[in-house]
Amino acid sequence: MIGNLLRSHGIVLIPGDGIGPEVTSAAKATVDAAAHKNGFEVDWEYAYAGMTAEKKYGEVLPKETLDAIMRSRTALKGPITTPIGEGFRSVNVELRQRLDLFANVRPAKLFAGVRSRYSKVDLVVVRENTEDLYAGIEFESETTASKELIRFAKKRTGKAIREGSAIGFKPISGFASRRIVRFAFDYAKSNRRKKVTAVHKANIMKFTDGLFLKSARSVAKNYRTPFEEMIVDNMCMQLVTKPELYDVIVCPNLYGDILSDLCSGLVGGLGLAPSGNIGERYAVFEPTHGSAPKHAGKNEADPAAAILSAVMMLEHIGEKRAASQLERATLAVIKEGKKVTYDLRAARPSSTTQMTAEIVKRIEGTG
Ligand code: NAD
Repeated sequence: MIGNLLRSHGIVLIPGDGIGPEVTSAAKATVDAAAHKNGFEVDWEYAYAGMTAEKKYGEVLPKETLDAIMRSRTALKGPITTPIGEGFRSVNVELRQRLDLFANVRPAKLFAGVRSRYSKVDLVVVRENTEDLYAGIEFESETTASKELIRFAKKRTGKAIREGSAIGFKPISGFASRRIVRFAFDYAKSNRRKKVTAVHKANIMKFTDGLFLKSARSVAKNYRTPFEEMIVDNMCMQLVTKPELYDVIVCPNLYGDILSDLCSGLVGGLGLAPSGNIGERYAVFEPTHGSAPKHAGKNEADPAAAILSAVMMLEHIGEKRAASQLERATLAVIKEGKKVTYDLRAARPSSTTQMTAEIVKRIEGTG
């Protein structure tokens, strides 16, 4: 008997919370269509994280989910709701740290058909994903630990921290800084990008951001791609006035998070911003946006960010032809502007499933 001759890729699908299940199911449908068109199949394994996982397993990041990603090495994930200022810590941050997904790659490109104040934006934020203020080492105010740290700081630096302050750590290592800057230069080289800009605040944070900057300078010497440095506040101003001057932007965790949302605003909003969290062994692709609770369950969220994240995923697993077909089909639907969701300002907005069906139809019609 002849076995199944199709090549197959095992991918973990984490639907997530809020609009997550709607946009990941859209991405899955389009990936399946592109796979079918290109003679392979995706063997999806569902896994859970966030509030959905808490209901099912009693924990927000179950071992089963981590094990599944470690087996298949690649996942497509929906956004996860994180309680603000209380409750459990971010599952996303934990996932990135546990799997050492050190590079968060967030492209921001202006597509034809999207209304924007700008005529050309095509840049990529490469964000360090494992340390900085996201390390999750914080001490609540008025605890023994925070009081001890206040005393320690006074003794070692002579500087007084106000009594009753909460304290957070900002660890920045030379190892992680060099690793992310190398990643940014390698990415620039393989994607024919013209420049790498390292973003920092080393004029104020001389040791932490200073180490990031020193590391960036030392790595840059080994590459031909032009390199420049920019202080983060100036970077924000530059991006909103002349985004066309920038290409690959590499930065520590917090600045990367903020700048990438800013960049998504330049190109039509969060509904269009994909991302990949990439490490040596594993990769998790997800839209940059959150769980947008007010749109959840209404079949109105833009599936494009999740679908474009799936495009990045297909490239990552080596299915470049399917990736480019899926990207072309998605961009064609956006450009035409007839079957798109509310955020793309269609005269009559389509639902998530209608926009997805239109993209699938385009893939099926591809020669
Ligand atoms: P959000 O990205 O969920 O929503 C902000 C606004 O952006 C929404 O109100 C909506 O107008 C728009 N938007 C986002 N995605 C859209 C889409 N696909 N289609 C159309 N419009 C879209 O940000 P938030 O409201 O600050 O966060 C909500 C929750 O998501 C929080 O719990 C937050 O912690 C979490 N979050 C998760 C991730 C992640 O899992 N990677 C990322 C960011 C935020």
